[in-house]
Amino acid sequence: MPEGPEIRRMVDDIAGAIAHRNARQVFFAFDRFKGYESALAGRRVTGVYARGKTVLVFFAARGDDGPWCVYSHNQLYGKWRITAADAEPNTRRQLRFAVFTGDRAARLYSASDIRLLRPDALNALPYLAHLGPDPLNDDVDADDLAGRLQDSRFSGRSLGGLLLDQAFVAGIGNYLRSEILFEARIAPKSRPKDLTSDARNTLAEAVIRLIQRAYQTQGITNPPERARQLKADGASFGERRHMVFGRSGRNCYDCGREIIKTTVASRRLYYCPRCQTAGPY
Ligand SMILES: [Zn+2]
Repeated sequence: MPEGPEIRRMVDDIAGAIAHRNARQVFFAFDRFKGYESALAGRRVTGVYARGKTVLVFFAARGDDGPWCVYSHNQLYGKWRITAADAEPNTRRQLRFAVFTGDRAARLYSASDIRLLRPDALNALPYLAHLGPDPLNDDVDADDLAGRLQDSRFSGRSLGGLLLDQAFVAGIGNYLRSEILFEARIAPKSRPKDLTSDARNTLAEAVIRLIQRAYQTQGITNPPERARQLKADGASFGERRHMVFGRSGRNCYDCGREIIKTTVASRRLYYCPRCQTAGPY
């Protein structure tokens, strides 16, 4: 399941192919949108953005007809492919939506949740309305998140579960959850209200830092200096990627203690019992 940084990089690729260009041709698989193919063809793609796990493709207004947005949620199986416009990807997947510019094409396969709507109707969609701030796509900083940790909707919930709740912060998935808690030195079962304000600030900063680091490094959450050293020592991408996630039984880089694997909110979580002492276990 892609997390915020992976989705943002995918959206960068889609935008690189079709944003700020005219859509020569638009394709929809679903009959209810077929009539809009010609209405959208020839319009400029004004932007491509991620919101949580959705991709939004915006088309400019033309004549009397206002702007449009194509909303798509990949769920588990949707897949975007970016190619030259005349190169048909070799796949058995069902093509569901595509935008062709002069020389490039962005094709979405297999996704079933695709909608066409006016941009001002986006916020009424339940998925988007419930989404928390997204550090890679919204203007949100550590102070905002530290304040959010004190919000009564979130302050009494254990962080191991809360960090996966997209209504709290959008874009954190399973590997980021473990890595953020380790970075902040916080025990997974602690709740925001158990923490000192310093620890809440540290956590908020860790959320922003690690989401941005994973975006910039293609998913590596280890500090860049350590990741470089591990690579020089011959570590594979998987081996040099994380501080704790996927490292059960291995030694903590910071204290040498064995990393523990547990299950929180039905998903695997990794932590160091010596380093992560803020809040109760
Ligand atoms: Zn440790």
